[in-house]
Amino acid sequence: MKPAPFAYLRPTTLEEALTALAGEPGAKVLAGGQSLVPLLSMRLAAPSMLIDINALPDLGHVTCDEAGVRIGALARHAEVLASVEAAASQPLIARALSHVAHPTIRNRGTTVGSLVHADAAAEMPMVLRLLEGSVDVASVRGRRTIPAAELFAGPLESTLAHDEVAVEAFFPALPAGGGIGFEEIARRHGDYALVGVAAVVTIADGDVVGARVGFVSVSDVPVVVDVTDHLDDPAAAALAELDPAEDIHASADYRAHLVKVLTPRVLADAIHHARTRKQ
Ligand code: FAD
Repeated sequence: MKPAPFAYLRPTTLEEALTALAGEPGAKVLAGGQSLVPLLSMRLAAPSMLIDINALPDLGHVTCDEAGVRIGALARHAEVLASVEAAASQPLIARALSHVAHPTIRNRGTTVGSLVHADAAAEMPMVLRLLEGSVDVASVRGRRTIPAAELFAGPLESTLAHDEVAVEAFFPALPAGGGIGFEEIARRHGDYALVGVAAVVTIADGDVVGARVGFVSVSDVPVVVDVTDHLDDPAAAALAELDPAEDIHASADYRAHLVKVLTPRVLADAIHHARTRKQ
């Protein structure tokens, strides 16, 4: 199918983009187009105008400081994945990104676009939620920071207002004593996960003092469960809070089975990582 007709604007300043967005209630932002363009072609979205942000300056950065990793709205998945500094600061970013789609899609799709798209089957929304990161957004009304815990409203629905553009995402660094793990099951590498699991742990004096696990593709939104007090059976603790969904890709029972298998394995990987990584 072909998209329904739409107007197209390619602003060269953020102010121009924000003014256009505020003045056109039916407009949508176009970043990498790897999710939006298929939706247009299937006529599941029919915006009156596309505001292409690819010519905006100063949004392609991947920068790191002691606090963590800042990713601009035009940084492609591939550029984030290639950043040695980002992988050193927060290794879960690269671990998860290597499972996002295929190289051609990663060359164009943006990490910030994936966060705003808010697909519960996508890896990076869950990673942002698990790490308690945030997204900075701008509009003609000013700027604000949305914590990950407040970003995901429902299936394919973020809490950005219609006139807001996400300009940067922030992923906190992995602190001393921290470790991460990630694993997912997909039909083919690069497909969306049937279930994906990530873990972040903190070790102090040899003991696990913090353990959180995040899940992809088990619910309408990314879900995070604190399993610090359930290290003997973290999967049971997780399943008590999850309600795995059934769809054409997998039954609810199969998803629950994958949660049971992957959760202890990924948690063990994260603990091993925390104990063996160079601090
Ligand atoms: P776009 O498609 O341009 O936009 C997506 C949505 O976000 C639109 O509603 C748009 O208006 C909005 N948006 C984008 N950027 C901004 C912004 N800065 N401010 C405000 N709104 C914005 N993703 C995965 O996570 N895992 C996968 O396994 C995976 N597999 C894929 C397989 C295929 C075959 C394809 C085509 C895509 C796949 N993707 C997967 C999606 C891919 O990661 C996309 O790049 C990502 O979802 C969206 O980023 P984008 O820059 O392409 O956004």
